[in-house]
Amino acid sequence: MSELERFITHIREKSQHQPQFLQAVDDILEHIVPVVSDKTELLNSKIVEQLLIPDRIIEFRITWQDDDGNTQINNGWRVQFNNAIGPYKGGLRFHPSVSLDTFKFLGFEQIFKNALTGLPMGGGKGGSDFDPKGKSSGEVKRFCDAFMMELYKYIGPDRDIPAGDIGVGAREIGYLFDTYKRITGNHHGVLTGKSPAFGGSWIRKEATGYGCVYFLEKLLAEQNQELENKRCAVSGSGNVALYTAEKLIHKGAKVITLSDSDGFIACEDGLNEDQLEKIRAFKEEQRGRLSELDDGNIKYHEGEKPWQGEYDIAIPAATQNEISEQDAESLIDAKLSVLCEAANMPLTKAATHVLTEAGIIVAPAKAANAGGVAVSGLERTQNAQNKPWDRKQVDKALKEIMGDIHALCLKHGTTTDSDKVDYIKGANVGGFMRVAEAMQAYSG
Ligand code: GLU
Repeated sequence: MSELERFITHIREKSQHQPQFLQAVDDILEHIVPVVSDKTELLNSKIVEQLLIPDRIIEFRITWQDDDGNTQINNGWRVQFNNAIGPYKGGLRFHPSVSLDTFKFLGFEQIFKNALTGLPMGGGKGGSDFDPKGKSSGEVKRFCDAFMMELYKYIGPDRDIPAGDIGVGAREIGYLFDTYKRITGNHHGVLTGKSPAFGGSWIRKEATGYGCVYFLEKLLAEQNQELENKRCAVSGSGNVALYTAEKLIHKGAKVITLSDSDGFIACEDGLNEDQLEKIRAFKEEQRGRLSELDDGNIKYHEGEKPWQGEYDIAIPAATQNEISEQDAESLIDAKLSVLCEAANMPLTKAATHVLTEAGIIVAPAKAANAGGVAVSGLERTQNAQNKPWDRKQVDKALKEIMGDIHALCLKHGTTTDSDKVDYIKGANVGGFMRVAEAMQAYSG
């Protein structure tokens, strides 16, 4: 057993209670261990070993008052994983299910995703087990205030720049930014995903979804195909899902489904722009549930996932491990050709295996959903320049970045023994090589 293999075994043993982190680690090690095995410099500097342990983990308590004046307590975390190529960058997630495991997995993935964008951003992630569901906006504001009272000590525009993720949208970023500004007295670009009213970038809200579709277009062009009339199953109904759906419809694809944690809606002919706009307003402004949208044209399926029908393309845009082995099998039976990960790590390990074995092209999240953090990077640029860009300029830059990520996946994912591009390998190796080059430069 090599020294590297021994270290990996040691990390596996130490992290047995962090299955999501290990899943993300295994996914990348499969491709980077063979790449480093003949690179003595990288082996001697222990680049892979260093990458497996976060630079630091910050864990804290958040105490806040609910509307009835009761004291409430939550846990908070920020995992600053790696800042080799730029300051830590990654979202904040507020969801009752999270633990340190969640943030280690997300922070680890973020290192390579951010590297793929070509922008100077390291990887980090954080958040809380606070559940925003059913809370008044006063409660959310008080929680965000208490959260930032602790977090502000560890972040900064050149140090660590958080953003949104599940449960943290424009409203929460506004509350968090207000507290940071009041405590420090600085109007710093310390968070991204801000409203354009106070230093945010146009298209940030749409960026992950639009970016996914730009990536998908490139991927299909490689197969001499296009999006027009493709039947797409999208899961989720947050920012990522809604703006993926919007861009797909714009490109002439048929968006058959959307989902939330209770069930999914289906429209067999594909949602039209008006229907999607209604859903967007209902979700974003009223924070409603999809079950209320059943109207004859749109059919609601309680307690089910959208992976049973016949689709050309599946786009999981909800959360990690949402597609099981069984879901993957149904998608294959229904002749799926591409699966594009819009959420972070939406496939279980077994599901990924089943799909790739069946020859389905899987576009991994690191590459396909990097548009969100890419526009966050462009927001930093605009803040540093003290100059906002217009929508067109941001959209053009986003499209170019997604094209460059696609090209990098082709470069590292094309194999001689298959005519199919291995996008998972391409993204893993492409992202890793960028981080490794920086880390190597720091090594004695
Ligand atoms: N949470 C997003 C992601 O998973 C965006 C992070 C950011 O904009 O910093 O990439």
